[in-house]
Amino acid sequence: MMYQSPRITVEQLADGIAKFTFNAEGSVNKFDQQTLADCKAALEQLQQDKSVTGVLFSSSKDNFIVGADITEFLPIFQRDEQELVPWIKQASDVFDLCEDLPVPTVVAIRGFALGGGCEWTLACDYRVGDSSTKIGLPEVKLGLMPGFGGTVRLPRIIGADNAMEWITTGKDRNAVKAQQEGLIDAVTSPEKLEAVALSMLQDAIAGKLDWQQKRAVKLQPLKLNKTEATMSFSTAKGMVFATAGKHYPAPMVAVQTIEAAAGLDRAGAMALENQGFAKLAKTDSATAQIGLFLNDQLIKGKAKKAAKTASKAVNKAAVLGAGIMGGGIAYQSASKGVPAVMKDINQQALELGMGEATKLLAKQVERGRLDAVGMAKVIASITPSLSYDSVKDADIVVEAVVENPKIKGAVLKETEALLSDDAILTSNTSTISINSLAENLSRPQNFCGMHFFNPVHRMPLVEVIRGKDTSEETVAAVVAYAAKMGKSPIVVNDCPGFFVNRVLFPYFAGFSKLVLDGADFTQIDKVMEKQFGWPMGPAYLLDVVGLDTAFHCTDVMAAGFPTRMAKLDNDPVAAMYQANRYGQKNGFGFYAYSKDAKGKPKKAVDDASRELLAGICHNATEFSAEDIIARTMVPMINETIRCLEEGIVASAAEADMGLIYGLGFPPFRGGPLRYVDTLGLANFVALADKYAHLGEIYQVTDKTRAMAADGQRFFP
Ligand code: NAD
Repeated sequence: MMYQSPRITVEQLADGIAKFTFNAEGSVNKFDQQTLADCKAALEQLQQDKSVTGVLFSSSKDNFIVGADITEFLPIFQRDEQELVPWIKQASDVFDLCEDLPVPTVVAIRGFALGGGCEWTLACDYRVGDSSTKIGLPEVKLGLMPGFGGTVRLPRIIGADNAMEWITTGKDRNAVKAQQEGLIDAVTSPEKLEAVALSMLQDAIAGKLDWQQKRAVKLQPLKLNKTEATMSFSTAKGMVFATAGKHYPAPMVAVQTIEAAAGLDRAGAMALENQGFAKLAKTDSATAQIGLFLNDQLIKGKAKKAAKTASKAVNKAAVLGAGIMGGGIAYQSASKGVPAVMKDINQQALELGMGEATKLLAKQVERGRLDAVGMAKVIASITPSLSYDSVKDADIVVEAVVENPKIKGAVLKETEALLSDDAILTSNTSTISINSLAENLSRPQNFCGMHFFNPVHRMPLVEVIRGKDTSEETVAAVVAYAAKMGKSPIVVNDCPGFFVNRVLFPYFAGFSKLVLDGADFTQIDKVMEKQFGWPMGPAYLLDVVGLDTAFHCTDVMAAGFPTRMAKLDNDPVAAMYQANRYGQKNGFGFYAYSKDAKGKPKKAVDDASRELLAGICHNATEFSAEDIIARTMVPMINETIRCLEEGIVASAAEADMGLIYGLGFPPFRGGPLRYVDTLGLANFVALADKYAHLGEIYQVTDKTRAMAADGQRFFP
């Protein structure tokens, strides 16, 4: 053995060839600080060893290297930008060391080579992939850009246009695609991967391949004349501006860095990359997006654990109600491999449900994600039925009939009597207490809420609502089933509105009060969309949710939290509802809706809605963007904090993810609690105090005040 550590081994093969294997103790190889230090030590040894003729890089695992160790980022990124530049430089120097080995190098890329993993391959002379290879630079998804030489080497290997596309979208490629774009030099089968890489290395050593020339290209300025450069970079900047927007600075910084470095040699270009990386590492959006990644890992980890402790594995599901939600749930279950019976009392509803599923699958086929056989298989695994008998063998039942406590109670009771003793029963209710529904059942331990969001196939969140009698085994089985359906489950305790709607309604109340005080709802939407970053402002969101549904929910919330969420006099939501303006569903709400060329609803300002509001609101008053944001967001944040303090949601991470996955909270802000951390808790308390006179939803809890005084945060 020429070098050995718990992460890397270097062994001698025949003819002076060294085989450098990434072989971490965990399940995957990643670049943490220790691995980088080991790489440096191993490379320095290889550099000194005159007997070495060439180096073959590989991995002992199914994946090459999945990237940098993201868990190390946030504490390191707390350092000053000036300190971060030398920190990232000492890491990127290791990649230069690899590139500067005095002998040819070839890498065999199995599975993922992402981020730092991809950048390692760029530092090698030749790259060989197989059918499992997935290679790419996803750093922008974390609000960053490549920091180990990716912005320097990739444009010099595959050209600036291609490289900017890779880096600014963060999408990975398979080996064939990467070969077509000029990154991978050979593609073979997994069995032959190392043999082909070795033979390529032997050819390079024998002088049959001009590895020095290939390497030299990476050390020089980009080969672009002035006109080409102007075209390339202005097109890339235009594309990035249109797609990423101002809230996501990383792709633009990456393009600007590549542009500024185009005329420089490797050392000059690397210095610019080091600076660009350090600058992005200090942005709030990078902190938020890295936080999101870590929170998502936590949720996935909990779901994996749940699958191990679940009371039973779910292999067969049944959905009661084939409406908007039931149809979507049955489709989602079947498309992820769990067959589902879809039961309704109405034949037409069943036909509609099957029709929707077929449309969604046809779209997948159109996009090349599914073939006709796969589509037929999914459709065959949804069984429409009018008979209760068809649900009796189900491991899990998701009730999604009309939102009426009496009907739901009767349906759940009747269903429970048919099921085996260990079958699980869940309800997709949005407003009815899980504990009260459980009163209809003789096995309440097998029952919980399973709250999906509309449209089911697109919204990642499922709230799993634990009632007071729900067993932990049931919770675990439902979490595991939701994860199997490709969803992100978050377990919450029963309370009015559960978690997501409980924090959404104070936000709507803040909006209603603003409108009553004379704010223009279109201006509120504009500020909340363009400046805060919500996909829809509150008026538009209310129209999409349905003003009838929202009106009904405000009753439930007022009954649950009578002082804090009491109904407002002249609530604009109530006024819309009473004027039969239900939103998108009947074409009129705050806005009026017509169909565009593709049949999708298109909103427009409507004089009738303005007139309606003029009758109940104060005279038109100008509010600043800061005012609008504070008056809607403070109530939402306060309620999120209350849910955390009351244990409705288990952690700040899950609270943030719930609102991102369930409501589309702007990801670059990381969630409401990360947003408060970014503002600073003391600043948030001062802001809320300014509006405290408007009502209880603006008043911070005693614990929040104490945390602020103590300098605490929600995230480390
Ligand atoms: P929907 O009106 O579209 O569908 C309800 C379906 O239930 C209808 O097809 C009806 O025929 C059927 N049904 C009625 N009684 C039945 C019975 N006894 N047995 C079987 N089927 C019966 O309603 P939806 O929007 O799909 O909502 C269903 C549930 O999901 C409600 O509890 C609702 O609160 C909840 N939910 C809705 C949304 C949403 O955005 N629509 C979001 C989350 C949760």
